Amino acid sequence: MPLDPLLLDVLACPAPDRAPLRYDEEAQTLTCTSCGRVYEVRDGLPILLLDEVK
Ligand SMILES: [Zn+2]
Repeated sequence: MPLDPLLLDVLACPAPDRAPLRYDEEAQTLTCTSCGRVYEVRDGLPILLLDEVK
């Protein structure tokens, strides 16, 4: 399930940088444009938890 583009607009990194995220549709991940953390997208829902970061 693809991530809603409108949702992507309002999403920000949960780390203190609060930077915008880049969506990788193929990998179903969100990558922070500032700190480079990668967040999973599961069933169209981004998992923006710092303790879930690989
Ligand atoms: Zn970040």
